Amino acid sequence: MKHDFDLFVIGAGSGGIATARRAAEYGAKVGIAEFDKLGGTCVNRGCVPKKLMVYASHFPDSFVESQGYGWSPVESTLDWEKMITAVNNEVNRLNGIYQKMLDNSKVELLQGYGKFVDAHTVMVGDRQVTADKILIAVGGKPVRPNILGIEHAITSDDIFHLKEQPKRIVILGAGYIGCEFACILKGLGCEVTQVVRGDKILRGFDEDIRAEIQQAMVNHGIRIINNIESIAIEKTDEGVKVTVKSSGDTEETVVADAVSLAAVGRKPNTQNLGLENTKVQHQDGAIIVDEYSRTHEENIYALGDCTDKINLTPVAINEGRALADTVFGNKSRIMSYENVPTAIFTTPEAATVGLTEAEAREKYGDAVKIYRSRFRPMYYTLAGKDEKTLIKLIVDGNTDKVVGAHMVGNSAAEIIQGVAIAVKMGATKADFDATVGIHPTSAEEFVTMR
Ligand SMILES: Cc1cc2nc3c(=O)[nH]c(=O)nc-3n(C[C@H](O)[C@H](O)[C@H](O)COP(=O)(O)OP(=O)(O)OC[C@H]3O[C@@H](n4cnc5c(N)ncnc54)[C@H](O)[C@@H]3O)c2cc1C
Repeated sequence: MKHDFDLFVIGAGSGGIATARRAAEYGAKVGIAEFDKLGGTCVNRGCVPKKLMVYASHFPDSFVESQGYGWSPVESTLDWEKMITAVNNEVNRLNGIYQKMLDNSKVELLQGYGKFVDAHTVMVGDRQVTADKILIAVGGKPVRPNILGIEHAITSDDIFHLKEQPKRIVILGAGYIGCEFACILKGLGCEVTQVVRGDKILRGFDEDIRAEIQQAMVNHGIRIINNIESIAIEKTDEGVKVTVKSSGDTEETVVADAVSLAAVGRKPNTQNLGLENTKVQHQDGAIIVDEYSRTHEENIYALGDCTDKINLTPVAINEGRALADTVFGNKSRIMSYENVPTAIFTTPEAATVGLTEAEAREKYGDAVKIYRSRFRPMYYTLAGKDEKTLIKLIVDGNTDKVVGAHMVGNSAAEIIQGVAIAVKMGATKADFDATVGIHPTSAEEFVTMR
C-alpha cells in the first residue's frame, strides 16, 4: 500500500529532527509534526537558554576576581529584561535555522498536534497523513507534584520569560536542573533558597561530587534547606509564602517573589497521543522500546525523553541517528548507553562519565581504586578566592581500566568531554599516566594523580 510518507515523525525536538534529517539523507520521504516551536525542549526551554543564562550569571564574579589581577572595580547592574530578550532572540534565531535545515533536507513540516488514528495514520490538526513507519519523539514536560498551593509555583519553562527579576526565589528540587537554576539566579543577584527532600542535592551522582557542589553552593550564599518532609505554598500580600517542615518537626517559612519547580520531575508527553489506537505500550507514560527503539507496534518507533531512559539531548540525537541508519541506511546499529558523559552547569560546574564510586564498588568490590585530587586552581590565587576544584578517577584494579571520571571546577564539562573518549575506548590508568599533561592547567591532574 502506498503511504504519504516513508517516515512520519511526531515531535520536532532534538530526537525527532535528527531522525527526520538522517532518514531523508538516505532518500526517505519524511514528514514531521510539531505544534510548538521547532527544536523542542533543548532549544526553547532547556539546554540553550539555560546555558546562555549561566554565562550571564558568571559576570559579577569575574568583575570581582579581575581586581586581584589589577583591574579597577567594575560598577555594573543587570538589565533583566534586556538579558531575557537577548536570550529569547537567540532562541528565535535557532528556530529559523531548524526550519532551514528541514527545508534543505526536504522534510515536510506539518504545524499541529499529531495524534494516532491507527498504526499507519496520524491526524495533524485537520490533515490526515499515512506513513509506512512512524516515530514518536514527543519529549516530556514538568510535573506538578502534589503540594498544597502548587498552582502558585512557576516551572523552569516560565523562568525564561519572566518580565521582572525575582529578587527572592525559592527553588523546589535537588536535581541537576534545580541546582543549575539556583546557581544562575544567585549569580544574577537573586536571594535563593533551595528546598531539598534528602540530605544532599544531586541524587544519583558520585557522593564526593554531590558534597563538593552542595558546599560550594552554600559558600556562594545559596540557602539550602535539606530533609524536607512537607511543603505548603501560599500567596500573600508580601509575596509567595513557602512553609517547609523538616524531619524533626521543625517548621519554617520563607517569603519570596517566586517559587519555581525546577524539574522536580518530568513526565513523557504521551497522554493525548491516541496510543490506544495502536499496540504501543507504555509504563507510567514512558513508551516501552527495545534497543532498536522499536515499540510493541511493528512499524512504530519511539525515542528521547518520551521513553524516559537517559533524558539528555545528545542521547535523543544518537538514538535517532542509529534508528535512521538501521531502518533507512541499511547500517544496523544501536545506541550505546554505557559511559554517557553529562554535565551539571552549576557554579562551580561539574561533569562526569562512567560509574560513581558506589556503583563501581558494587560491581568490582574491593578491587576498586580511587584517585582524588582537590586543590585551588591557579586562577583563584590572584583573585584571592578559596574556590576548589575536585578531580576523581575510579579504576577497576583487576584490569586497571578507568571506569569513572568526575570533576567539579571551571570548564569541567569541556574537560570531561575529552576524558570521556578515553573512558569510552577503555583506557587504563597506565594510559592516563602515559599521557603528557598540558601545563599549567587543572585538567593535567587527570594524568598526574598517584
Ligand atoms: C531546563 C532544562 C535544561 C536542560 N539542560 C540540558 C543540558 O544541559 N544538556 C542536555 O543534554 N539536556 C538537557 N536537558 C534535557 C533535554 O532538553 C532533553 O533531553 C531533550 O530535549 C529531549 O529531546 P526529545 O527530542 O526527546 O524531546 P523534545 O526536545 O522535548 O521534543 C519533543 C517535541 O515534540 C513536540 N510534541 C509533543 N507532543 C506532540 C504532538 N502530539 N504533536 C506534535 N508535536 C508534539 C514538543 O512540542 C517538542 O517540540 C534539559 C532539559 C530542561 C527542561
